[in-house]
Amino acid sequence: MSKLAINGGPPVRTKPLPPSYPGALLMGKEEVEAVTKVIEAQSPFRFYGEDLQGTVNQLEDMMKEDLNVKYALGVTSCTAGLVVALKALGIGYGDKVIVPSISFIASATAVISAQAVPVFVDVDETLNMDPEDLEEAIDEDVKAMIVVPLNGNPNDMDKIMAIARKHDVKVIEDVAQSCGVEYKGHAQGTIGDIGVFSFQMNKILTSGEGGAVVTNDVKLFERAMRYHDQGSYRRQMKPRYPEIQSVEAESAFAGQNYRMSEITGAVLVEQWKKLDLIISNLKKNYPYIKEQVKSKAPALNHVETVDEKGNLGRIITFRFPDKELAAEFKDALNAENINARLMYNGKVIYQFDQIKHQRTAEKDNMPFNYPFKNPVIYKDGLCPKAEDYIYRTVIVDLHPLLEDPDVEDIIEGITKVYQGLGLEEKLKANQA
Ligand SMILES: *Cc1c(COP(=O)(O)O)cnc(C)c1O
Repeated sequence: MSKLAINGGPPVRTKPLPPSYPGALLMGKEEVEAVTKVIEAQSPFRFYGEDLQGTVNQLEDMMKEDLNVKYALGVTSCTAGLVVALKALGIGYGDKVIVPSISFIASATAVISAQAVPVFVDVDETLNMDPEDLEEAIDEDVKAMIVVPLNGNPNDMDKIMAIARKHDVKVIEDVAQSCGVEYKGHAQGTIGDIGVFSFQMNKILTSGEGGAVVTNDVKLFERAMRYHDQGSYRRQMKPRYPEIQSVEAESAFAGQNYRMSEITGAVLVEQWKKLDLIISNLKKNYPYIKEQVKSKAPALNHVETVDEKGNLGRIITFRFPDKELAAEFKDALNAENINARLMYNGKVIYQFDQIKHQRTAEKDNMPFNYPFKNPVIYKDGLCPKAEDYIYRTVIVDLHPLLEDPDVEDIIEGITKVYQGLGLEEKLKANQA
């Protein structure tokens, strides 16, 4: 094999792999036509217009059908959707919400926006929230947990739901990164009490910005719908939900505006139709790449999954014995033009300044000023496994639009770096 690119040799690829916004790369004339219809109808608002197209309704109906869930609600983003979910559950000032230590920061900032305090839980070998640690983190103030299947890797929902039910803690599934991920044949997002999706640019499907909330619980759905639309239940929604017969005088409460526009809805209806294609490409390439890498680079340590079939295969992940070796592998692979990275630049959520310092935009620094019996403190060492793994774990993105030669390049790149860095010997020496 030729000299490593990092040492001046020719790289495995000269052309970069596709960037990590698959939905956007799949945008085409279908989206253009759908958006054009909304504009030509002069009806970009969900609830009325000259010739309402009903795109948001259509998106919600497709999600209900494909995810096998009773209710779906389009919102402006996943962050907004998480706040909607928390408010649907009645969570606020004086409550704590469990959040995994490795996730996008929004999983925690949404909790703070809802005036509750995040409690971070450590991860296990899957890099997802550790169910053992989860149970220890529950105290009388913990009212909910946000569960995140990271990068398409499912959570152990049987264990998580058992703990949640035992302690009467509600479960929100934040499936922002993992639209289509399954646990034991069920779509994640529909297993807990309420699920939240993202359609931001870097997610699997996109309209630039956007999100959705799903649930099987009619009461939660009504509260979610109200919170996302100033607290009232619009007459235009009523024909869709004859089972909801609430009286405004008793049920209205102050909410927000997190409504999805018909333009966003139009894009997402077309994007949703492409989800099967994306998932089938990922599920074709991932097992092949993993198997090839295991045979050609056998000493590499793969991050585990609780459900290989449900895993979306968005990434292939390697754990190294120390951060120096992880950095060496990552840099060498990038030099070959195979994208490799650490998650969140090696930071767990509570190491980001706004969280670490518990600083909010609110008066008296609400909600952190609440006099909890058992106060929440963030400091290094809080979740030792997450802090350790995040530096030793290298992610290689697997794009849904990889062509067969790209797939071979990724395998070749990993194998070349493995050999060129002498990883077999180094990793074996470390295991001994
Ligand atoms: C991206 C992301 C979010 C936020 O999504 P937005 O739609 O940008 O608000 C929330 N949670 C996780 C796990 C994410 O990856």
